[in-house]
Amino acid sequence: MITLRPNSPPVRILLGPGPSECAPEVLQAMTRPTMGHLDPLFVALMDEVRTGLRALYRTQNELAFPISGTGTSGMEAVLVNLLEPGDALLVGVAGYFGARLAEIGRRVGARVTEVAGEWGRALGPEDYRRAAAGKRFKALALVHGETSTGVVADLAAMRGVADEFGALLIADCVTTLGGMPVEIDRWGVDGAYSGTQKCLAAPCGLSPVTLSPRALESLAARKTQVSSWYFDLALVRSYWGQDRAYHHTAPIQNVYSLHEALRLLLEEGLEARWQRHEHNARALWAGLTAMGLELLVPERERLLPLTAVRVPAGIDEARVRRFLLEHYSLEIGGGLGSLKGKIWRIGLMGAGSKRANVELVCGALRAALVEQSWKAKDYPLPAVHAFYATV
Ligand SMILES: *Cc1c(COP(=O)(O)O)cnc(C)c1O
Repeated sequence: MITLRPNSPPVRILLGPGPSECAPEVLQAMTRPTMGHLDPLFVALMDEVRTGLRALYRTQNELAFPISGTGTSGMEAVLVNLLEPGDALLVGVAGYFGARLAEIGRRVGARVTEVAGEWGRALGPEDYRRAAAGKRFKALALVHGETSTGVVADLAAMRGVADEFGALLIADCVTTLGGMPVEIDRWGVDGAYSGTQKCLAAPCGLSPVTLSPRALESLAARKTQVSSWYFDLALVRSYWGQDRAYHHTAPIQNVYSLHEALRLLLEEGLEARWQRHEHNARALWAGLTAMGLELLVPERERLLPLTAVRVPAGIDEARVRRFLLEHYSLEIGGGLGSLKGKIWRIGLMGAGSKRANVELVCGALRAALVEQSWKAKDYPLPAVHAFYATV
């Protein structure tokens, strides 16, 4: 007879690149009874989710709903709908997720031009112009918050750049949405997607997407059918929109959890939430640098919800992460791709962005480093406390 052990996961403190800690109310929402997905009460809930997402994305876009899938499904959905085989796509690639955007673009059959940049630095308008070399593009796609490097792009400056190439502007907002300003309408973003398990503080499994009226026009003008049936946004839209035409079964409990996460977020207030993420990130930076650790990214290009820290010479970085998990039940991330073994990634996202976590991760990281005979410069907490005293 085959028997499986009951699953009783420990309570981890999730300070990596995601998933992040869920607010307790959000987890509780998932235990509520299943309704049919065409039940009028569920349909009303779907409408509230769309309203909440518009507020979160700061947009009037009619198309705003979650794709049933993780952040990558939103990436795939936006690209497969806005691009046709042979279309020219310009992509900023200065990290792992930029590379994924380019890869999906190629699979969609687009002619992809990569704007290559150093991992750990932001790409600027000049980098895009140089790579574009005077050509026109169907779309310009970039990652707003590159979770693999801890760099934030100046998304607000990109509308003008995309216009120079006659391009739609597509942004990956997986790590930034709900953690720092994302202004879809003000910044003129045509297509954006995110994920629920980062700054929205909900379980993984949904990917909020939004398309501008201009993106919808481009969708309507396609010469070829969208090659993915599941991600065909015209079909998904009639399911989430007025028609309620069955397309797939929305993951009921995930929708409950996203609804609760949005409710909490709007109760807190978007600006207050951005400020909370900023204060805790800056406090973390103060503590880490006081100890003598170096941050990968120059301050003005730093992403707030995720900080990349250089591994000091002679330190076994995986052993540090094991130490944190074993002694503190604390998870941080390691590096990806060319930064593997070279950095740690500390996330302060959603419900996890709080002072107690800043102090814990600074103290725990110091203990893990001292265990490997590292000489810390100072204790981190006085600098952290001094920072909070100023805000
Ligand atoms: C996490 C992440 C993704 C992918 O999301 P999944 O939920 O893992 O599919 C895409 N882009 C960025 C910037 C991310 O941080």
